[in-house]
Amino acid sequence: MDVVATVEEMQARADRIRAQGKTIALTPTMGCLHEGHLSLIQKGKAHADRVVLSIFVNPTQFGPDEDLDAYPRAMERDLALAEGSGVDVVFAPSDKELYGPDFQTFVSLDRLPNHLCGLSRPVHFRGVATVVTKLFNIVKPHVAVFGEKDYQQLQVVRRMAADLNFDVEIIGAPTVREPDGLAKSSRNAYLTPEQRESGLTLNRSLEKAQAMAAAGEADPARIIEAARDLIDAAPHTRIDYIEIVDPYTLNSVEAVEGSVLMALAVQVGKSRLIDNRILAPGGA
Ligand code: AMP
Repeated sequence: MDVVATVEEMQARADRIRAQGKTIALTPTMGCLHEGHLSLIQKGKAHADRVVLSIFVNPTQFGPDEDLDAYPRAMERDLALAEGSGVDVVFAPSDKELYGPDFQTFVSLDRLPNHLCGLSRPVHFRGVATVVTKLFNIVKPHVAVFGEKDYQQLQVVRRMAADLNFDVEIIGAPTVREPDGLAKSSRNAYLTPEQRESGLTLNRSLEKAQAMAAAGEADPARIIEAARDLIDAAPHTRIDYIEIVDPYTLNSVEAVEGSVLMALAVQVGKSRLIDNRILAPGGA
């Protein structure tokens, strides 16, 4: 496995791989790898000849009051996990390598960021769309894999790739959970045991929502209220949002019919946790 830190070298590697007639899968991450990330790598391997894992804590997607400095970093451990997972190239640039002093070009979307996480994280998706664009130009992938756990991010990347005609297939990968249902996240590392227990209410409320929808509850407000009660009852929780939306536009829906997305973000201690699930009224 090669570890590459410069744009020039990464582009040269990508050109060499492509010249050999091989395909490239990109799995972008911010490091501190867990099984969720490893599942993306496996998906990448299934869809391409070579897998490039990027590890970059992207400063432009953090707001001024967010956890950029505190974000967990574990490069040595990450490299060992990447090697064990069969990654071919790790691209791990410095901030300076990606954002020079005169950097001033950003990619932003008009509508998708005006929902869910975008409302409390106003610069987030502009930072995500910009760094993903840069990674596409640097790694030159044929496919790129993103987790459904960050559902809005996946939709933003899909929209951006379609709107800007990137010749990259965007693949979504299902959320990997702990045995008790907590979605794996690098930010789980901040949780105390008691806060972790409270964090379980995210998935529990999604399960309850699915049970209500399957039992015929079609009023999103009632489902959201039940989720709110469950999460509010747990200590150290502060709900940012709980919403039931159209899975494509992310607009709120009037009724739970067809498939709709329930998404939530909850501050638990120092961690902002997110989770989501497609609700299917008929069960599923
Ligand atoms: P991050 O390092 O948190 O920016 O995440 C990098 C990629 O891993 C994103 O595409 C995430 O959606 C994905 N990811 C994070 N957590 C999980 C998880 N529990 N299951 C599946 N994918 C995940």
